Amino acid sequence: MNDCIFCKIIKEEIPSNIIYEDELVLAFLDIHPETVGHTLLIPKKHFQDMDDIDEETYLHIFKVAKMIKKQLIEKLHCDGITLMQNNGDCQDVKHYHLHLRPYYKKKEKMTIDEVFERIMH
Ligand code: AMP
Ligand code: ZN
Repeated sequence: MNDCIFCKIIKEEIPSNIIYEDELVLAFLDIHPETVGHTLLIPKKHFQDMDDIDEETYLHIFKVAKMIKKQLIEKLHCDGITLMQNNGDCQDVKHYHLHLRPYYKKKEKMTIDEVFERIMH
């Protein structure tokens, strides 16, 4: 998909803060985080949404989501994590992505660079 922004992230044509990668998926920090550490988990192959994505990748995404949830809790000390995945008109970027949005009892403030540093070290 030539004009897909997430395919461009996968091909490293545009920068992103990648926190996890394997042969099937990539996880990176959301550029407009709703909370500190808001992460997107995407398949490397372009699928539009949950009707489109193949089962192997779908199951793998949720396996990796468990690992990333653990990583975010350990590194950012958030008090919870919300998983969300939009389909249809409420989906802005038409490349399947699972949101992992940390929840904090007390509001946290950090830049994306600071969050990236904290998660990766
Ligand atoms: P959705 O409404 O579920 O399609 O959400 C799309 C998400 O992608 C939003 O949270 C955006 O902030 C995020 N986003 C868009 N472009 C980028 C980008 N270049 N790097 C990281 N996140 C992005
Ligand atoms: Zn794509």
